[in-house]
Amino acid sequence: MIRLTKEHRVFAFSAEAVPSLRIAGGTTLELETADCFDDQVQWPGDVLAEVDWDRINPATGPVYVEGAGPGDVLSVLIERIDVGEQGVMAVGPGFGVLADGFEEQVSRIVPIVDGAAQLDEGLAIPLRPMIGVIGVAPAGAPVPTASPGAHGGNMDTRLIGPGAVLYLPVACSGALFAVGDLHAAMGDGEICGTGVEVAGCVTLRLDVRRDLEIAGPVVETPDLVATIASAETLDAATDAATRDMTALLTGRLGLSLEVATMLMSAGGELQVSQIVDPLRTARFALPKACYAGLGVDLL
Ligand code: CA
Ligand code: ZN
Repeated sequence: MIRLTKEHRVFAFSAEAVPSLRIAGGTTLELETADCFDDQVQWPGDVLAEVDWDRINPATGPVYVEGAGPGDVLSVLIERIDVGEQGVMAVGPGFGVLADGFEEQVSRIVPIVDGAAQLDEGLAIPLRPMIGVIGVAPAGAPVPTASPGAHGGNMDTRLIGPGAVLYLPVACSGALFAVGDLHAAMGDGEICGTGVEVAGCVTLRLDVRRDLEIAGPVVETPDLVATIASAETLDAATDAATRDMTALLTGRLGLSLEVATMLMSAGGELQVSQIVDPLRTARFALPKACYAGLGVDLL
């Protein structure tokens, strides 16, 4: 198995980046990842004030996928996520929804034991590993790994976990894929700005698709398909995610705009991914059961 260590990490998705690895489409590989603090917080005494904030949200890569080019779609099958033995969480002024509710930054080491993140005595969050940062290089200016967008990036969408397939629109030659910011668990919204941040290793397969047209990231799980969109406000993000799903249903299933809209209004699930990153991220999830009777795949 091809393995890329976390020494090969970047802090921006950039079309100018030098690839760390070149692979053919259809390759499965392991990517080792540092946590969102670049592994700088390891002990209860480690102070966030001493963290180098230029080293936030590292992503392992970039991986050049032979044959991928603008207009293609990179499909990423997430086969497996292994997380470390401890995670870290943080709250404080400047972090998340309750940024003004705290006087100082406080971090906490969260042991991962018995299939749960042990936040405190009696407070155990069941493990639900997922990927916070995952994407390809955008066509224009580089985008910091801390920000989400149409290229993917810091989407903090908990559906992006083992067994899911993420589809990303390719904008430049080779796609330049990178991944990081694993969470042992994270709730919708990620309200304090951190999930259970953890180092680990992702096993995934990259394939190039030329038969798909998508405006932004789409994630597929065994039960649903969700369009993901990021924007300055949650209103704009929900609007874009909704429109992207409408385009997918009319384009791929041949539904009329009227029927697609009614199907989404009756059976869809508009959900919040995160409200703490530089842009907000929402998703429009549609259970596969809603169109199973057609006997065709949406993706
Ligand atoms: Ca994140
Ligand atoms: Zn994170």
